[in-house]
Amino acid sequence: MKTTPISELFLDGRKFLVKRDELIDPYLAGNKYRKLYILLQTPKLHLNKIISYGGTQSNAMLAIAKMCHDKGWEFVYYTKPISKTQKEQTIGNYFHALRLGMWHVEIEYEKYKDFIASLRPNLDEKTFIIDQGGAVVEADEGLCVLADEIREQNPHAKALATPSGTGTTALYLALNLPEYKVYTTPSIGDVDYLKKQMAALHPIPKNLIILKPEKKYHFAKLYPEFLEIYKKLLACGIEFDLLYAPGMWKALLEQTTEDILYIHSGGVSGNESMLKRYEKFNLPPK
Ligand SMILES: *Cc1c(COP(=O)(O)O)cnc(C)c1O
Repeated sequence: MKTTPISELFLDGRKFLVKRDELIDPYLAGNKYRKLYILLQTPKLHLNKIISYGGTQSNAMLAIAKMCHDKGWEFVYYTKPISKTQKEQTIGNYFHALRLGMWHVEIEYEKYKDFIASLRPNLDEKTFIIDQGGAVVEADEGLCVLADEIREQNPHAKALATPSGTGTTALYLALNLPEYKVYTTPSIGDVDYLKKQMAALHPIPKNLIILKPEKKYHFAKLYPEFLEIYKKLLACGIEFDLLYAPGMWKALLEQTTEDILYIHSGGVSGNESMLKRYEKFNLPPK
């Protein structure tokens, strides 16, 4: 793959740099491409099946579906039961993942946890399991490639930023680039939850700084200020996702002052369905 470009973005009187990882592929982009890198480099014949689990709007799910489609691997995705409305949607990550050949299996609420735990001990050698959101130590490989690219491009900033779900991306980025400061902020759960997730993979390095959001946000809920910052960024020429990026941008504007290279984490494919939800959402009067 070619090195992704770095663009300038002027926001609220500040100049930011953006590493354009969202341009890699419409379905398999951003940190999901980086996290799946080692599997993408795996010869087709070494595997025949990928198993994963999690939510049906997940960007990781869509990225895995695209990878399996291109590789000719079977993809089985386990979730808790989903609504009829969701099944009938003709937009969004779930719809596109099914189109790419994903085999979706619903597991009853009461059995879900035990079922997921039972998957790993029963794998054959041509099956690979990817934990929810791609939170695997194998992600290090692709983030090392990203780190090398950044070092080579030698941007005019000594701090990086990228939003966290599982924290896998921010953690391995910080580990691979100890000479940079890496800012992140939790999009799912709070700071303690994020630290726990990261520490399960590797001890958290000193150059990784977790910014605490000024207000508590719940993942995948709608917030007028998120839509506002999304629109502002779009007007600056770059589309970001509506789930993770708005909180990171808010935290950067509120809590940092130095020059920053923002690592675009992708997820733009989910905006179609998010924008539909925002359309129905009553924005409070200004
Ligand atoms: C998955 C995702 C994240 C979170 O990545 P983690 O490595 O789980 O922290 C951030 N932004 C976008 C757009 C994503 O799709």
